[in-house]
Amino acid sequence: MLNKFEVMVIAAHPDDAEFGTAGSVAKWIQEGKRVVYVVCTNGDKGTDNPDITPQQLAKVREKEQKEAAAVLGVSDVVFLGYPDQGLEDTSDFRKAMVRQIRTYRPDMIVTLDPYRRYIWHRDHRITGQVALDAVFPYARDVLAYPDLIDEGLMPHKVKKILFFGTEDVNLKIDITETFHLKLDALRCHKSQIIQLGIPDLEKWLWQRCQKMAEGEYFEVAETFHQVEVPF
Ligand SMILES: [Zn+2]
Repeated sequence: MLNKFEVMVIAAHPDDAEFGTAGSVAKWIQEGKRVVYVVCTNGDKGTDNPDITPQQLAKVREKEQKEAAAVLGVSDVVFLGYPDQGLEDTSDFRKAMVRQIRTYRPDMIVTLDPYRRYIWHRDHRITGQVALDAVFPYARDVLAYPDLIDEGLMPHKVKKILFFGTEDVNLKIDITETFHLKLDALRCHKSQIIQLGIPDLEKWLWQRCQKMAEGEYFEVAETFHQVEVPF
């Protein structure tokens, strides 16, 4: 079994973690916490370039995600390899997450809020829902996925979940000190940033994070809905 990882970020696509939580990830790492990324899809559909194949795109996305993780100090990046726009709430997908949770044994999971209303990427909604179910009860219960037990992956209780991309904010994290790392990590996702067509990424990101810090004493934030796992 691996040494302790305090934080696991579960993202649907390469770049989700950088948009949603990279400033906080950098902060946790500076505090001495170990962070692992689990990226569910290979991001092979998110392009408007007809000259690139899905296989080529997936390779680019994986490389960019590894570079972004390295900027932040994330030591492990796991790619589950599901097709972009192809996630379903299945036992197979849930088991893949349980496998990672029981392997890395994090205290806290950071993932996409499945309950955002209306326009929300289907992969985001399903990732958040399946992560929530994987934490409780499947990763915890010894009789869930008994073949994982046979592999030595024992039950694990996650203590807390932080959902990003949320409309129901109950936690704002000050990222003033790590904003530059979030920006640098986001810039690693070159193939996706180009498509956004933002002329001044730093300004755009600062304003976005400034809005998230509204009402606080600090300048820029990332926002979450935090849930303690009671059982
Ligand atoms: Zn996404």
